[in-house]
Amino acid sequence: MPKRVLITGAAGFIGSHLCDRFWEEGFEVIGMDNLSTGTLENIAHLFGRARFSFFHYDVTNFIHVPSELDYILHFASPASPADYLRIPIQTLKVGALGTHKCLGLARAKGATILLASTSEVYGDPLEHPQKESYWGNVNPVGVRGVYDEAKRFMEAMAMAYHRAHGVSIRIVRIFNTYGPRMRLSDGRVLPNFIGQALKNEPLTVYGDGSQTRSFCFIDDMVEGIFRLLIYSDYPLPVNLGNPEEVSILEFANEVLRFIPESKSEIVFLPLPEDDPKVRRPDISLARELLNWEPKVTRSEGIKRSIDYFRHKIFGT
Ligand code: UDP
Repeated sequence: MPKRVLITGAAGFIGSHLCDRFWEEGFEVIGMDNLSTGTLENIAHLFGRARFSFFHYDVTNFIHVPSELDYILHFASPASPADYLRIPIQTLKVGALGTHKCLGLARAKGATILLASTSEVYGDPLEHPQKESYWGNVNPVGVRGVYDEAKRFMEAMAMAYHRAHGVSIRIVRIFNTYGPRMRLSDGRVLPNFIGQALKNEPLTVYGDGSQTRSFCFIDDMVEGIFRLLIYSDYPLPVNLGNPEEVSILEFANEVLRFIPESKSEIVFLPLPEDDPKVRRPDISLARELLNWEPKVTRSEGIKRSIDYFRHKIFGT
């Protein structure tokens, strides 16, 4: 019998890639998504295949799965700042109530659960790069608080289920991840810049562009998540991300270099509230525990993303 895995947020960017990976590894994959930010296009190729089923469902409600379950991956959540500012209450609910439902389900089924946490638990960090031991610098009542605090609650709830009920858990703190199947209009920096460059619109750098991020290509992220769930039994949070840091202004220039025909210029717009000034993962723990580190260079990842978005926009 194949092992059975439930993936929430299955129609989202990372969730849909996880559906592919677990399906390719021979698992029976049950996907759930309320499609508030995900799209069925991301998983259309899986419909009709054996070992795949999908439920259009909001996991903030009681989740009923009649069959046995071996694993749960809780990836349902808006993840772009633009999205969680637009639907703040749903963001809090899926991180809090959705997590509670998933943990309850894991307990009932005796399943191992992996929860998608985030580098946002570090807020606007005062320690750099960020190690798992850092407690963070989060503004609970700021506009990003709905995401950051939901994910911090998620971690606390997972640890409580682990300690009180012995549920087998994994917590991954995901740093900026990019690649095919991001929504062109999701507001995040990479789809914005690539979409703008391809359409000859100005690239919108927020602030002076000196803030930094560290971008991990989706294939590397999926590999790390798979290893953490299947090959380890480590219950505390693990950072996954690419430690190569770049300023947002430099990133805009990189995107332009890869689209030489673009007539776009760079414009500077106000920096959003509580926008972290720096972000870079310390991945020593993942290296040691999972023998994992990113393999795809930013140049390669940007090129593959451009190909995807070009096809989305122009169909070529
Ligand atoms: N950003 C930008 N222009 C855009 C979109 C984002 O300069 O069109 C900046 C944003 O202010 C932040 C960084 O790029 O400093 C990454 O933003 P994103 O929304 O991708 O995610 P975050 O890392 O802030 O969660």
